[in-house]
Amino acid sequence: MSRLAQTAGLTDIQQEILSTVRDFVDKEIIPVATELEHRDEYPTQIVEGLKELGLFGLMIPEEYGGLGESLLTYALCVEEIARGWMSVSGIINTHFIVAYMLKQHGTQEQKDTFLPRMALGEVRGAFSMSEPALGSDVSAITSKGVKDGDEYVLNGQKMWLTNGGSSTLVAVLCRSDEGHPEGTAPHKSMTTFLIEKEPGFGEVRPGLTIPGKIDKMGYKGVDTTELIMDGLRIPANRVLGGTTGRGFYQMMDGVEVGRVNVAARGCGVAQRAFELGVSYAQQRHTFGKPIAQHQAIQFKLADMATKVEAAHAMMVNAARKKDSGERNDLEAGMAKYLASEYCKEVVEDAFRIHGGYGFSKEYEIERLYREAPMLLIGEGTAEIQKMIIGRRLLEEYRFQG
Ligand SMILES: Cc1cc2nc3c(=O)[nH]c(=O)nc-3n(C[C@H](O)[C@H](O)[C@H](O)COP(=O)(O)OP(=O)(O)OC[C@H]3O[C@@H](n4cnc5c(N)ncnc54)[C@H](O)[C@@H]3O)c2cc1C
Repeated sequence: MSRLAQTAGLTDIQQEILSTVRDFVDKEIIPVATELEHRDEYPTQIVEGLKELGLFGLMIPEEYGGLGESLLTYALCVEEIARGWMSVSGIINTHFIVAYMLKQHGTQEQKDTFLPRMALGEVRGAFSMSEPALGSDVSAITSKGVKDGDEYVLNGQKMWLTNGGSSTLVAVLCRSDEGHPEGTAPHKSMTTFLIEKEPGFGEVRPGLTIPGKIDKMGYKGVDTTELIMDGLRIPANRVLGGTTGRGFYQMMDGVEVGRVNVAARGCGVAQRAFELGVSYAQQRHTFGKPIAQHQAIQFKLADMATKVEAAHAMMVNAARKKDSGERNDLEAGMAKYLASEYCKEVVEDAFRIHGGYGFSKEYEIERLYREAPMLLIGEGTAEIQKMIIGRRLLEEYRFQG
């Protein structure tokens, strides 16, 4: 175990799970991550290993075949996995959000149908709010579901689906006018539809096309796609929770736990960058001594380690708050904001410590340098986090004059 990012008060079971995951990351992920990432190759073997470890069912209740663990356990596992390769944490993240939404908001039939197979990793989840013209402004969604007998007919285009190709169950947020006349507030006229599909690309179900992978600067290996619905017919029992008009609230609930998750990824990537930086600084010599002995480099290492510690503490606090049953949007927003900004800064420092070699694809820091920016965007940009934090602060500190 490393000196940094320790978590006090973990149970024996949590410690055992974490040490197993860390071992898996060191042996099965870190040695192959950079090579697979450069080839933009899906990590099939790693995913099979995660299934065997039960990670796809980590937070799914035991009655549905999962491990029934807390958000904190999950976030700490994500931190370990992201330390190895951020894309792998992306593969389980959307799955986890969909499973969480089903657990919290699904009908009994939906839970019975999907959760046991999700716990095994046989059904794999993706979630979709963003469209080509919007990401931050979810209220502007234009994709639409219209009731037709016992079915809904869905039309619209979605953008940026993590695991869009590899998943078999997509939670899609659409506008639905049924029972919600023109002029209804956006958050009351949206519905989450559960769309089952075949994995892969092209027309994966009549009326549903996944065009292909988006070519990205980093976060490779995991597929990110568009999704096109053209007269897609969905049975009425695939409305999440069985009632229309609750989709916005359900998705925001999912994204809130997703934010803790992104914070955990930031912590993991920053830890790896620190490990790489501190190791390189002791091997590279300039002016007759290891660069780690130059005070300017020691100051960088001190900054990096302090940021790793601070981000970890905030992430753990946000997860524990949710586990205690309390509202955690303020803590999750702060943790996501701080961890992703710090991650970018720690990676940048580790990159500089590497000098010219950091620019070479032979060095792992080059991959981290391309991965960190995604954390500034996914699950809400820094500006959106600050909007959430600011609004909540004004609620908490209402002027009493
Ligand atoms: C690799 C990747 C994977 C993704 N995976 C998913 C996924 O699985 N599912 C999904 O639904 N989405 C996903 N997304 C989409 C992601 O959530 C959005 O990109 C993100 O929310 C930002 O939206 P946008 O790109 O439309 O930017 P915009 O909303 O257009 O924002 C552009 C800029 O304006 C700023 N801005 C916007 N509004 C305001 C405001 N009111 N005040 C101040 N500044 C503002 C933003 O912070 C940003 O800097 C993914 C994105 C990426 C890059």
